[in-house]
Amino acid sequence: MLSLMTESRSQRAARRAGEFPPAPEPLPRPVLDSHTHLDITVSEVGVPGAADAADPVAAAIEVAAAVGVDRLVQVGVDVDSSRWGAEVADRHPAVLATVALHPNEAPRLADLDAALREIEALAARDRVRGIGETGMDHYRTGDEGRAAQEESFRAHIAIAKRYGKTLVIHDREAHDEVLRILDDEGAPDTVVMHCFSGDAQFAAECVRRGFLLSFAGTVTFASAASLREAAALTPLDQILVETDAPYLTPTPYRGRPNASYLIPLTVRALAATIGADLDDLCAAISATGERAFGPWH
Ligand SMILES: [Zn+2]
Repeated sequence: MLSLMTESRSQRAARRAGEFPPAPEPLPRPVLDSHTHLDITVSEVGVPGAADAADPVAAAIEVAAAVGVDRLVQVGVDVDSSRWGAEVADRHPAVLATVALHPNEAPRLADLDAALREIEALAARDRVRGIGETGMDHYRTGDEGRAAQEESFRAHIAIAKRYGKTLVIHDREAHDEVLRILDDEGAPDTVVMHCFSGDAQFAAECVRRGFLLSFAGTVTFASAASLREAAALTPLDQILVETDAPYLTPTPYRGRPNASYLIPLTVRALAATIGADLDDLCAAISATGERAFGPWH
């Protein structure tokens, strides 16, 4: 306990970087990570396989590409991380960005309108292909923040439609609210349910609306039977996969840091769950990712 208490931030990052799981067997065809937080990964956990890399982002991209994860979507959660993602996407051909104020961030802002104007300015950039993550979170934000959260969500939907970008939804214990607001505003052409967390019934509601369901490491958890039922009824061309790194590390490495190079674990588990051929699933995920965010190059 004492050693943990006296550990500096950089010491902690270095220790955690040493906890990255080994690289899985490469996939037979390239796929993408539809939702990752490289900024948080680099600052909180370090870089998989290259603790002292001169360009940590390039190192993370390289390790992922080596196992067949050759494209990724960097997701913004506030003005700073959104701007960072847009700049990284301009520098790295493997990266595209989305920009937004996270639903738990929006209620905390002193000037929501000013922050939304900054997000809108970033939304116009070419390699910013999505607006997100935005949505509703009833888990971390209480009643007092609900109105600001909804106002922010509605504003993000409008920005996505104005700029023709994909909407990336964060939905935590707020399935009905998310659908109600999307139906009320009118959903943009492409909607991704990030880290899909509903059951079969909610999946059917999303599938019917043409939304894409992005499955994270959670689909590999032993406790996630209803999530696997949801995946099983989702058409192949509405499935995406993501890490949400550095969070949600798939089985058997729960508790250790996550990064895009671990996507093969989730893809293989998903293929087994839905009874899909691994090659076919990879090809479908890749095509759906290009439709939602592409082209990368
Ligand atoms: Zn996220």
